[in-house]
Amino acid sequence: MLYDVVIVGAGISGATIAERCATILGKRVLVIEKRNHIGGNCFDYLDENGILISKYGAHIFHTNHDDVWNYINKFSKWKNYYHKVLCHVDNKLVPLPVNITTVNLLFGLHIQNESEMKEWLNTQIEPIVTPHNSEESALSRVGRSLYEILFKSYTQKQWDTDPRDLDASVLERIPVRTNFDDRYFSDRYQAMPSEGYTKVFEKMLTHPNITLKLNTDYLDVRNEINPKAQLFFSGPIDLFFGRKFGKNLAYRSLRFEFETYNIPYYQTNSVVNYPSGEPYTRIVEYKQLNSQIHSKTTISKEYPTWEGEPYYPVLSRENLDLYLKYKNEATKIEDRNVHFVGRLANYKYFNMDQAFKNALDLFYSLFPNSPKDM
Ligand code: UDP
Repeated sequence: MLYDVVIVGAGISGATIAERCATILGKRVLVIEKRNHIGGNCFDYLDENGILISKYGAHIFHTNHDDVWNYINKFSKWKNYYHKVLCHVDNKLVPLPVNITTVNLLFGLHIQNESEMKEWLNTQIEPIVTPHNSEESALSRVGRSLYEILFKSYTQKQWDTDPRDLDASVLERIPVRTNFDDRYFSDRYQAMPSEGYTKVFEKMLTHPNITLKLNTDYLDVRNEINPKAQLFFSGPIDLFFGRKFGKNLAYRSLRFEFETYNIPYYQTNSVVNYPSGEPYTRIVEYKQLNSQIHSKTTISKEYPTWEGEPYYPVLSRENLDLYLKYKNEATKIEDRNVHFVGRLANYKYFNMDQAFKNALDLFYSLFPNSPKDM
């Protein structure tokens, strides 16, 4: 069969491009996926107890982009869900992002309102106008004490990299609040798919024009692909170019240890972070992410590792410089109908909505006259 479009990867980026090319343009699309399932790292399934769990950890959808929100609502109903995170520190559970409750609990303070909180923060923060790395970003926003308690060791554990060697944007992901708001995200839309993420991807990819090949590594079949087909690659960009610049681009991975307990709840919150002490970064209790009712509960502990599937680009100067070399190679072949899309191919720490946005924007830039049914 001759395909017009070949897409490598059936995660957010690949599925979005596939869906748009098939539904809007009527193109014949082949999706090649290395793993034995669709959905990339959003993949979820019922475990042996019938509890919906995510194979690759918690995924909470949040966005301010109307186009992305409208787009994902085509494939599922979504339930409002306002995510909260607690950090385990000195046998206390304190909210993250930092808010008034966090500092009151950690330092035995009695701050009661925004102006008192701002005043207190001003005694903590360091006068760094343009942070050059994640440590400077934290010091400029919360000061040294909170940085040492909540961010320094967690970041070291998560990235196996000194926060001084990580781009400022990594720690800028987490806001600082001067009120009591304890939601993890501030976006207008925050939700979970009512039947899980895998069902969303099934709906996106079920189309007569889309052929899906699982358990297929693009590198093994690339010579069999029609060179005239338009190619969208969502895997690691350095892999596409045979790691020609010698050193690998670093991607951090996670190992999950799942445990099921014969009790209704394991912890008081869906996610509890362990900034220091434990070898894992966080414990996720899946039932609490989507209000599942069950007599048992399944949790996972997340151990950051260099082995296994690539998850997170490691935003150090060295990696970003290396990425630019690959990006330069990518630009050279764009006019040959090869496009790089998504977190791994753009070497960007995208949230889910940014991955949808990146794929939708790419699609509409390549096919600008296509209808926007969103
Ligand atoms: N982080 C931290 N302490 C925490 C949670 C996060 O220092 O308790 C830092 C860490 O460097 C992490 C980054 O903030 O990689 C971004 O956190 P986020 O929760 O966005 O990570 P993700 O959910 O993408 O793994």
